[in-house]
Amino acid sequence: MKNLKQLLSRIDGKGYKAYKDIRGRYRFERFHLVVDYVQGDPFASPSKIRCLIPEHETIIGRQWLETPERKETLEDHIARMVAKAIDRSGKHAGGTGKSGLIAIDRPGQEVLKRTAVLVENGKVTVCLSVGLPARGRKVLGRQAEKLFFQQIPEILRLSVFSLNRQMIQAAVKLRDQQLAVRRYMKQHDLVAFVGDGAILPRESGISDRPLPNQEAVPFETPESLRVEIPVPHRSAPVSGMAVKRGITLIVGGGYHGKSTLLEAIERGVYDHIEGDGREFVLTDAAACKIRAEDGRKVTQVDISPFIKNLPFGKDTERFTTENASGSTSQAANIVEALEAGASALLIDEDTSATNFMIRDSRMQALVAKDKEPITPFIDKVKQLHEDYEVSTILVMGGSGDYFDVADTVVMMDQYRPFDVTEKARAVAQSRRSERRQEGGERFGRITERIPLPVSLNSKKGKKEKVTARGLKRIQYGTKDIELEQVEQLVDASQTRAIGEILHDLEKRNRLGGKSVKQLLDEIEEQIERHGLASFTPFAEQHPGELARPRIFEIAAALNRMRTLQVKSQGNG
Ligand code: ADP
Ligand code: MG
Repeated sequence: MKNLKQLLSRIDGKGYKAYKDIRGRYRFERFHLVVDYVQGDPFASPSKIRCLIPEHETIIGRQWLETPERKETLEDHIARMVAKAIDRSGKHAGGTGKSGLIAIDRPGQEVLKRTAVLVENGKVTVCLSVGLPARGRKVLGRQAEKLFFQQIPEILRLSVFSLNRQMIQAAVKLRDQQLAVRRYMKQHDLVAFVGDGAILPRESGISDRPLPNQEAVPFETPESLRVEIPVPHRSAPVSGMAVKRGITLIVGGGYHGKSTLLEAIERGVYDHIEGDGREFVLTDAAACKIRAEDGRKVTQVDISPFIKNLPFGKDTERFTTENASGSTSQAANIVEALEAGASALLIDEDTSATNFMIRDSRMQALVAKDKEPITPFIDKVKQLHEDYEVSTILVMGGSGDYFDVADTVVMMDQYRPFDVTEKARAVAQSRRSERRQEGGERFGRITERIPLPVSLNSKKGKKEKVTARGLKRIQYGTKDIELEQVEQLVDASQTRAIGEILHDLEKRNRLGGKSVKQLLDEIEEQIERHGLASFTPFAEQHPGELARPRIFEIAAALNRMRTLQVKSQGNG
């Protein structure tokens, strides 16, 4: 501690580069401070420090470390407390560029595995970014002293050193309950569960917080679809709507809450925090949102289950394009999700290509099948379930033809769901659809692809460059990976992690012999065994600001790379 003080007063007023001298480890009264990385100038990305807090300085109980999920919840909670303490500690003193900034990788509405806070054997590591203070390019030693000796200890005092048992207990209990519901779902073949009282709508299109209570209609399960799931830490079971495996249709008038329900289900692959409104909206973690995404790159994807005989004989078994159409992009999105092991598809008519979803009898009569390359999803959705056990939840207000294939039909009416399965069956009986089934009896095979090493090139000039640009873009070498339409990517730190993972695949030369699925399985296993930080070059130091992505979002990034090249079955 004294060393750091002396160092700071010595470099006061010197050029910014003098800060490099403070790298190292220092013993403070209640914690150790490690300066891992010092920024090059006041405008550069901030410096990285860690605070290591010994076990005896915290109140962390063994019971909170009993399961991986509990540990994750505890770490998440501490990160939130540190973020709150940073907010409370007020505005930092002035200076040039990022001078005085203190930040932690801040969790959003989900509880994700992240590297900002790590708890190991009761020992807590908090990773922070700080802007080392300067005026112009001169070190402000006094200011830096204040940052290290007052602000950071104060932030820790308000967070790690004053953890609240009840709050941690509550977070851990909720997580246990969410886990219990997920287990029940597996045992009872549910794809999704929407708890009674859930608040599904969000505050606004740009906010992930719940719509305030007085404006939101809480979810109310129709009697026939209700299940009650016993959970720990409370006597009453959690009740709500069971969405069974198979084909579920969400119908209803415009603006009655169909898309809002599906969006909540999409996000249900993650666990949400207390107060989010979606605590008990839980979805099979391998469920994938599918949408049309025209303009995306597609690389040798076998979309022939859906599309055959394109004009000019274009190959659809190894379909490649720099600029997919609505229907071809949606087909590719489905096949890629299946390749990565999706268990369910989540589809909204709002973001689908109409000609991919339906083709009614009149259109069949006018445009002969041999002139229409597309076999619409309606003819494939059952086969997907029968051949591959992949379920579908589909928002479809526009075509009753789907009544013929649905196992369950839920109608949204003024934000309330009704079970209209029987009614829909009766309608389907009395008004027979004239359309003919297209595209054969089987779904068709899902072809494996093997990404080639040339796909990944992080070189930009002489340096390597892999950077997440916000939530929906990764700069990889000289090219950008565009993730705008990848809707289940929810946290910019997941995006960062995907960048690191791809970069790691490149540097360790892991492409070439393995299929996409094999690569994803390996990545998953590495995360489980060695943690997310194992993908960064500085794992031993500040592990960075990473949150765990699902394998489907990792696959999505790989699949959208303009540089991706693959070898697929049958082309040598
Ligand atoms: P649809 O897909 O049926 O056309 P949306 O799901 O887009 O309808 O919902 C329309 C609007 O209603 C949105 O602004 C949404 O935020 C709001 N909304 C949805 N569900 C609820 C609810 N349970 N309570 C209050 N408002 C809701
Ligand atoms: Mg809608």
